[in-house]
Amino acid sequence: MTYCGRKGCENPAIDRRSNRYGYICPSCVRELEQVLIRDYQRTGGYAPDIISKFMATFNSGYQENLTEAREVIDIEFPVDLDN
Ligand SMILES: [Zn+2]
Repeated sequence: MTYCGRKGCENPAIDRRSNRYGYICPSCVRELEQVLIRDYQRTGGYAPDIISKFMATFNSGYQENLTEAREVIDIEFPVDLDN
């Protein structure tokens, strides 16, 4: 079993591995996507050290926050099976 190389992350990693940063788990991949999108929207590009900074910082709780956000959406916009 291999584990995510991000600081403080103890999730198993499945298939993604960087020569520079080692393995990354699916949860951190999804969070990294958000980080990259925000950086691109803010600056029109990516800071050269953005991934190394990401890998050196603890999980922000993004995945837990995402679960909560989806619950809010499910309540407000339940799937309409009749449509
Ligand atoms: Zn991870």
